[in-house]
Amino acid sequence: GSKKSGGNSFQFYTPDMNAHTHDLLMLERDIARAVKENQFAIYYQPQLDLQSGKLIGVEALVRWQHPEKGLLNPLDFIPLAEETGLIVALGKWILQASCHQAKQWCDAGYDPGRICVNISGRQFRHGTLVSLIDETLTDSGLNPEMLELEITESVIMEDVEETFQTFAALQDRKIGLAVDDFGTGYSSLNYLRRFPISKFKIDRSFIQDITHDSNDAAIANTVIALAKSLNVAVIAEGIETEAQLEMLLGMGCRQGQGFFFSEPLNAQDMEKFLAGDFSC
Ligand code: C2E
Ligand code: CA
Ligand code: CA
Ligand code: CA
Repeated sequence: GSKKSGGNSFQFYTPDMNAHTHDLLMLERDIARAVKENQFAIYYQPQLDLQSGKLIGVEALVRWQHPEKGLLNPLDFIPLAEETGLIVALGKWILQASCHQAKQWCDAGYDPGRICVNISGRQFRHGTLVSLIDETLTDSGLNPEMLELEITESVIMEDVEETFQTFAALQDRKIGLAVDDFGTGYSSLNYLRRFPISKFKIDRSFIQDITHDSNDAAIANTVIALAKSLNVAVIAEGIETEAQLEMLLGMGCRQGQGFFFSEPLNAQDMEKFLAGDFSC
């Protein structure tokens, strides 16, 4: 087969190219089409105040209802979307759909707390992010203070000068800024202190073995203490057991999310959760 790559040039993929490459090309074509055909869906995972059990926010997590392959998880397609640049169009759809949904819930009298949207590296570095956010907030009518962006530690540290500028614009709009996968990258404490960050998210990899790995427990404890001294909120992700919850509470962690409370829910089930039909 051949693939038009612009102008008069064609890129050929030959039979000796491996099946994997072929799969990736198919997937790339599928993603582009799927955005147009509305095959993506957003699932919402509750974030709770660990002491009161009160809902404080929801994280938007994308899923792909693939016509042949069924429900795909983000790790099956986000990395490729990032690599090819398709993430910009997909990320735009995710942001708009999440903000519209959150506003709809507010209008229906529910309180979803903050809507937390993952922003990929390419999307964060794309010059249109701030104007996309302005446009989305205007279109949806969502209160900017209800929006929180989750950006990984490594993306934040990639180009700190640019991060400063983007963060300043977002802070002006009162949008929350969470450092995702905290502890997995190499943050400079000096920058962390100077960025207008509102939350650290302790990565699930540290929570998983927290009850029997003293190194993981020490890292979680340190992040919680750091957050406290910098006056930043902290949330633990991937809480699956009561023992993990107890340990985090003992360390002074106030917020959490994970399968112990709820898996990510489709919009309909999230709405039932909001209506109080789910107990946690
Ligand atoms: P993440 O941002 O670290 O999201 C947390 C992941 O952990 C989610 O996986 C969530 O379903 C899962 N999780 C939550 N609680 C538990 C638990 O108790 N146990 C276990 N084992 N897992 C738990 P998911 O939805 O498969 O997403 C994976 C990653 O894909 C996310 O990691 C994020 O990096 C990326 N992603 C997901 N949705 C989006 C999106 O809309 N945009 C972008 N750019 N990336 C996304
Ligand atoms: Ca996240
Ligand atoms: Ca994580
Ligand atoms: Ca992540």
